[in-house]
Amino acid sequence: MVAAAVDRRICTATGCLRNLSRRANPALTLFRTSDTSRPFPLGRFPERRGPPASGTVTRMRAPDDPAYPRAAAPAAATVADLDARVPRCAACPRLVGWREEKARDDLPAYRGQEYWARPVPGFGPPDAPLLIVGLAPAAHGANRTGRMFTGDRSGDVLCAALYDLGLASRPDPVAADDGLTLRGVRMSSPVRCAPPQNRPTPGERDTCRPWLARELELLAPALRSVVVLGAFGWQALLPVLAAAGWAVPRPRPAFGHGVRITLDGPAGSRPLDLFGCYHVSQRNVFTGRLTPAMLREVLDGAARTAGIR
Ligand code: SF4
Repeated sequence: MVAAAVDRRICTATGCLRNLSRRANPALTLFRTSDTSRPFPLGRFPERRGPPASGTVTRMRAPDDPAYPRAAAPAAATVADLDARVPRCAACPRLVGWREEKARDDLPAYRGQEYWARPVPGFGPPDAPLLIVGLAPAAHGANRTGRMFTGDRSGDVLCAALYDLGLASRPDPVAADDGLTLRGVRMSSPVRCAPPQNRPTPGERDTCRPWLARELELLAPALRSVVVLGAFGWQALLPVLAAAGWAVPRPRPAFGHGVRITLDGPAGSRPLDLFGCYHVSQRNVFTGRLTPAMLREVLDGAARTAGIR
């Protein structure tokens, strides 16, 4: 068997993994992944996109410290600040290994593309009244493109529905620089790194929780409704909302497609409406468990509640 003629290297310009054909773009200056002289090891990338985060977080905790999210997330002063901090995180060794391993998969469809291979921050305006909460980035979707619900079938289905409702500027999210904008909608997830088999462990979910908790705090003044895609996101979100002061009933309401609950907020804030929706996974879509019409119906109800339709 002949080995594929592919170099797996680190791009010196972006710090991301590349799978490159030996014939592809020889002008790029790259390090081999085995090159110990590269400027930083995998999983410990300095921030390369967006404005630098403020504060002294990196002196408080190293990004590969399990306590890093607990230290770094609450210190984020704005949504933009939070989005700049998230990609530094390397608190879950299993997920750090997986997100980087997937970047080296050398799939023909993505050969030569630069993988993000880091935690994926939320996407959408910082004053969005509607939040969509998924599960975690897909290995060759958001883990590749660096943007939530971008680069795989799940993102295509979700974005097409948002486009149909006038909430997205295009129906086909393909890359972080494709010009897509969302109107009044933000996307996020309880786990920010791609997990094996799309199944984070409870420990990884809990370690990652401060990122979502802080995002909700920062979004809260404008937030009116949340669409939760799937049971994992539902179960991950309810404790975060309870900890932030929303009145989550006990026992906690069960997830279901079409379930809607209204939560009274902390003193002085408005109630928040939670909408359950089956996840836009390929499996759910291909089996017809979730149809485009079902998805549009839930999103439409949440958008009307949020006052953006
Ligand atoms: S899953 Fe969350 S806490 Fe774990 S490394 Fe990724 S961003 Fe950090």
